[in-house]
Amino acid sequence: MKLKASLHSLYSQLGPGGKRAAELFYSLVPLRWRKKKGFWRYLEFLRKSQWKSADWHKEYQTGQLQQLVQYAKSKSPYYIKLFKEIKCNPSEIKKLSDLKHLPILSKKTLIENAGLFLPEDFPRRQLVSNSTSGSTGEPFKFHLDYYAVMREEAFTVRHWENCGMIYGEPTVYLRSFIPKGRQSTYCFDPVNNRHYFSAYHLDDKNIELYCRKMATSKARFIFGYPSSLEVLADYILSHNIEIFFEAAITGSEMLTDNARIKIEKALSAKIYDWYGLAEPTAIMGQCPAGSYHIFSEFGIVELLDANGEPVEEEGEVGRIVGTNFTNRAMPLIRYDTGDLGVFTKKRCSCGRGLPVSVKSIEGRKDDLLIGSDGQYLPSVNFYSLFANLSGEVSRFQLVQRDKNKFILRLVRGAEFSVESVNRIREGLSRRIGESSQIKIETVDKIMPTRAGKIRAVVREYNPISTVKEEQHEN
Ligand SMILES: [Zn+2]
Repeated sequence: MKLKASLHSLYSQLGPGGKRAAELFYSLVPLRWRKKKGFWRYLEFLRKSQWKSADWHKEYQTGQLQQLVQYAKSKSPYYIKLFKEIKCNPSEIKKLSDLKHLPILSKKTLIENAGLFLPEDFPRRQLVSNSTSGSTGEPFKFHLDYYAVMREEAFTVRHWENCGMIYGEPTVYLRSFIPKGRQSTYCFDPVNNRHYFSAYHLDDKNIELYCRKMATSKARFIFGYPSSLEVLADYILSHNIEIFFEAAITGSEMLTDNARIKIEKALSAKIYDWYGLAEPTAIMGQCPAGSYHIFSEFGIVELLDANGEPVEEEGEVGRIVGTNFTNRAMPLIRYDTGDLGVFTKKRCSCGRGLPVSVKSIEGRKDDLLIGSDGQYLPSVNFYSLFANLSGEVSRFQLVQRDKNKFILRLVRGAEFSVESVNRIREGLSRRIGESSQIKIETVDKIMPTRAGKIRAVVREYNPISTVKEEQHEN
């Protein structure tokens, strides 16, 4: 641990050339030596457990739930108080259906009590803090257990392997990368063998360049936001470009049927969608047969109606509520994700015992903003900008009024200052283009839409019809 910290510190002091040389050197270290033994052991467990029977998974989840409830009741100040208030003894939680005796945890309650979930005696060296914002534009800091981070990575790798990928092989990423200053819109990360392309610069000129580089990348797999891959697919289809991937791995936004069809056609690739959250409470991944499997070793996923009862009819839509087993730094029981899923009783033909009660994800469709050059801007990264400003901004709403006109509404946080405004303006300009006008307004509250939902990203501008669009509420 100490050696790793010193190497990190040494690396951070290097100049650009030195950093590049260090990365190239590190890329030669075999993957099996870079990760801890615990990671490989857990990945091996997951590779096997997915093929266990549905009954095995139920039994495993029941044991994990009992342990979690006992742990939360005895360690987490929030749950110690809650169990006392609702007069519930953890020994009463004997089977999965007993979960209904515990209240649903809203994001509002989580934010208001964020500091109370962490057990007082939790080892600080195992603590990893993270920030989230999400579609309601309400940033907050949450705690992760070091081992939870390692395990979540193993779940991710299991998903990749199910898509046919060999961990460590070259891949293409049309997500997560924001060029700094005059940095190119493309970069290669030798350590992880990833070719990154900026999803903020999807204009015709760049897409043409991206296609050429992707074709020579030797990557069989492409990762992207559904919205970014759809823009890429539109260009490929309209220009008859030939480009082939074995699979496209999507996540972070809702994947519409229309986008799936277009992307699969344009890239000659099968899509494997992934559902996860910044607040680690639920994971689902598509298998080769197309079903969303709930990663039940990670936690329990419930689909609930407006009264908090499980949805039971085929095709019924319910709120996705997650309970996580792996994060001891912030135990979360029955967390309401705010996302919607469609219920199914059908089984999957692939043979995995992981549950498939969620047929599809319905409620992650955020509006896409459109940049000055006509490129689509994935909304998820506006969330990440504000997640890093959680003390300064308690809530935000970014509205695109016209092609180059944006209004940013901010509810000030305790650490808000003039400097915050400058940093926000700079971060936004980088994302939506220097030529855009951004009017920043500080407000007491963000007004909800007609359906009562507070949206963080709203597009009122429609480049085709130039009429205001209906606001979608999913
Ligand atoms: Zn399956």
